[in-house]
Amino acid sequence: MVDLGFDLGGTKMAAGLLDEKGKLIHQVREKVGKITQADLVVSKMIEMISSLLSKASIESSQVRGAGIAVPGILDRKRGRVVMSPNLGFQQFPLVEKLQKKFSFPILLENDVNAGLWGEYATNLREYQNVLGVFPGTGIGGGIVIGGKLYRGASGNAGEVGHITLQREGPLCGCGELGHLEALASRTAMAKDAAFLISTGRLPPELAEYGTDFRNISSKFFAQALRMKQPDVMGIIDRAIEWMGLGIASMINILDPQVVVLGGGLVEKLGDYYVRKVEASMKSHAMPVIGSNVKVVAARLGDDAAIVGAALLSREGP
Ligand SMILES: [Zn+2]
Repeated sequence: MVDLGFDLGGTKMAAGLLDEKGKLIHQVREKVGKITQADLVVSKMIEMISSLLSKASIESSQVRGAGIAVPGILDRKRGRVVMSPNLGFQQFPLVEKLQKKFSFPILLENDVNAGLWGEYATNLREYQNVLGVFPGTGIGGGIVIGGKLYRGASGNAGEVGHITLQREGPLCGCGELGHLEALASRTAMAKDAAFLISTGRLPPELAEYGTDFRNISSKFFAQALRMKQPDVMGIIDRAIEWMGLGIASMINILDPQVVVLGGGLVEKLGDYYVRKVEASMKSHAMPVIGSNVKVVAARLGDDAAIVGAALLSREGP
């Protein structure tokens, strides 16, 4: 038997199969552009799952179950996507739609939880308590307590991006002010970088990214770091300091053994980012807790959500 994982991204989709040992044995990956109509998303998913099974010569009856990693707010018990604006889902019965085509059981999972679980199951099993933080467009998070994913009462626990750090701070995507996400996400950094570019202070290799913050990628920051461009390094270091402060607040509550940082920004900025977040976290956390917490980078990259969603589907709703 195999388990199927599907990573439903805003512009990229990927599906994979895991063998009994939890190893990823086949996968398909596609850039699909921006699809914002729910029914088109569903037909694309069906097409990709069918193509994965046929490429791997696996019958639908050999699939034990499937987990779908979805960026958004979910009602897991009813198999509905409550809200995922980038995909055009609102109160959408995704499981029911897919179940018309496939007979194996299908479960939904928050994409960040799936990613954290993939990372945990593959690389961090020796720890019982883990906090995952994934800075990108926003800042996603997830919590493992006692070797289990902690979902909370509504199923949406772990929203570390929306802890308040600065009461009158910058506007967050959620509408509140001064959240960690508004201070330390790649988007927050990109807004400051776009402003810097507009002042004409940056060298041409960096200025060519332009003044639209949406075009300022993790690559921009990695390049500035290599060039040791002082203004951009200031932006990176400020974001790191906020990130350390936010994580310190979280670990004072959770007392985990490990904090795992993941996503494109962390991959691109590497050790510089991870070590400095750790130092900032330790300087703000209660010493009795912070001094024992390790900060590590995620290792699975793009595969994490597929692996995690597939493994979580084994555990049922
Ligand atoms: Zn927020």
